Amino acid sequence: MSQHRHKKRFGQHFLHDQSVLDAMTAAIAPQKTDIMLEIGPGEGALSARLIDHVAQFTVVEIDNDLIPTLNKRFADRSHFNIIHQDALTLNYGSNLNIGQMLRVVGNLPYNISTPLIFKLLESRHCITDMHFMLQKEVVERLASPPDGEHYGRLSVMAQYYCAIEDLFHIGPEAFDPPPKVDSAVVRLRPYLSMPFMAKDEQGFASMVKQSFSMRRKTLRNNLKGTLTGEEIESCDINPGVRAEVLGVADFVRLADCLHDKNEKNLS
Ligand code: SAM
Repeated sequence: MSQHRHKKRFGQHFLHDQSVLDAMTAAIAPQKTDIMLEIGPGEGALSARLIDHVAQFTVVEIDNDLIPTLNKRFADRSHFNIIHQDALTLNYGSNLNIGQMLRVVGNLPYNISTPLIFKLLESRHCITDMHFMLQKEVVERLASPPDGEHYGRLSVMAQYYCAIEDLFHIGPEAFDPPPKVDSAVVRLRPYLSMPFMAKDEQGFASMVKQSFSMRRKTLRNNLKGTLTGEEIESCDINPGVRAEVLGVADFVRLADCLHDKNEKNLS
């Protein structure tokens, strides 16, 4: 058992179940040429499984008290680096300064997982794939198809940029201390060539946000003042439905419709 005093504020639940570590390692499938980044290594349970199978292994850890432990455990590996920083403030494109595609992994602190995923999506151009252990409910939201129980803004935004797979679920007993929630492992692979691309990405993000602003209201109501019922219909979408039945392509058509309307008003 570890001597480290777990810090709740850093979402510290360390993996100790070897079969879960086996399954995560198999899902990640590390390769000799990989430049891998682990977010929140803790005492290095997952790191130890991966480090000897990749070309470069960098960890980002916020907790001062874990830095000496990680250094002691892996310092003899010349391809190992520690970034002692808040993962939410790291610039994944340029801070790492490697100019190569990254594979990102981690058993993430659940309290920051959604903002962290949004941040990583901004750096998707330098990321090959991401494998994360997350709160099960967040994985269900990321991977849910339209009209699913968990479908919402996070699903649409993540699925706009990435192919997403809900890989497997894990109970609390795999962790020390056990969290109050179930967990799941998800794979996010940013598209090299996006299946649906909005003319204006920010406009797309605002359209998704506004469409889901009041979940129980219809699209016509949520988009009042932005698009008329007729304009929504011109996108082949019934204005009387709720946002939760629309797929990524539908939101792209709505965002493009607003974009064209604004352009026309400007000219
Ligand atoms: N990977 C380890 C394991 O599976 O045993 C630890 C996982 S634990 C759920 C989350 C880890 O993320 C902890 O080591 C915690 O200190 C670290 N952490 C929490 N917030 C962080 C942040 N903002 N930036 C970087 N690391 C963070």
